[in-house]
Amino acid sequence: MVSLDKVCRPLSKGGLGVPSISALQHALYCSVIYKMYNSTTPLTKWLSTYYSSPWKPPHYKASLFWKSVCATAIKVKMNFSFVINPDAPIALHWDHWCNNLSFIELGGDITLDLFNSQFLSSLILGHNWNLPSSVPSNLADLICSNPITNVDGPCLIWNNCSKVYHKDFIEDFYKDLTDCNWFEFIWFKKKILKHSVYAWLALVGGLRTADALRLRNISISEDCLLCFHGQESVNHLFFECPLSFHILERFIPESRFFMLRPSLLHILQWVDDYPGSSVVKNYYKLVVCCIIYVIWKERNGRRYGCEIHSLSSMIINIKSILYARVSRWKNYEGLLGRINGLYSDVLLHF
Ligand SMILES: [Zn+2]
Repeated sequence: MVSLDKVCRPLSKGGLGVPSISALQHALYCSVIYKMYNSTTPLTKWLSTYYSSPWKPPHYKASLFWKSVCATAIKVKMNFSFVINPDAPIALHWDHWCNNLSFIELGGDITLDLFNSQFLSSLILGHNWNLPSSVPSNLADLICSNPITNVDGPCLIWNNCSKVYHKDFIEDFYKDLTDCNWFEFIWFKKKILKHSVYAWLALVGGLRTADALRLRNISISEDCLLCFHGQESVNHLFFECPLSFHILERFIPESRFFMLRPSLLHILQWVDDYPGSSVVKNYYKLVVCCIIYVIWKERNGRRYGCEIHSLSSMIINIKSILYARVSRWKNYEGLLGRINGLYSDVLLHF
């Protein structure tokens, strides 16, 4: 019901936070590039000596792996910048160490004729530039405008950060996707994971409701098996259906003052804007996700398992789930009245 492309996205992009194979490959190639310059393992040393730079066009006989590293290097070139130190394995002609440009970009073949060495370290003596006398003065001035650091540290840095983590490369892979404006409504700090997953499925159209199945040419009875009045859809189940809305009212009494029965996104947005404390706000988010889970389970039980629970059994079930979870929170005592349906403090606000 939900494409793999939608599932394999960060939470902030509307997915389940599982990286795709392509994202993992991107992160791996970025990591190889980063380590080529900043670590001294036998592999990175060999890569640096054999290939010089990931920004050097690969030989047609190069391995598929290296060609992929080079293709990624081109894509993320502007994310990487160089800090010049005397021992840095910076490729003189191919790396963009000179004011974020490479020699090839600056002067093409002219610079190749001027410098015979492969690495930038051949132009440094101590902590100063040591250029051949044949270098034109304008090019020498440009080179000398790049400072040589005497501080130990990485010579290739990612987005101006001193430390970089695997997740930074993964985030970079997804950076062009639009941000999701509801992910914090369901992926909050004290969530129950399986409840949040069902809320996510409801929001991305992943629940196999009658209307969604009909679109895929699978016909089942379209009647809502909770109220036997409406047609089953995500919008009806959450919360146009009288039964589900009654449960919502029971746990979020303010919802009875809405002009219309809220949609799922509407109630989640309302909870996120709730003016109360963060504890109550988290509790209400927990409530909405829990109701979605219990209602969907009840719907499946009625449709496929011939199991019917009464409204009061469903409410008791939700109460016990909430109590078991909330009792682990700090300062949860104020929420017990809400779980037990004692809302006098809440209703005073209206
Ligand atoms: Zn209904």
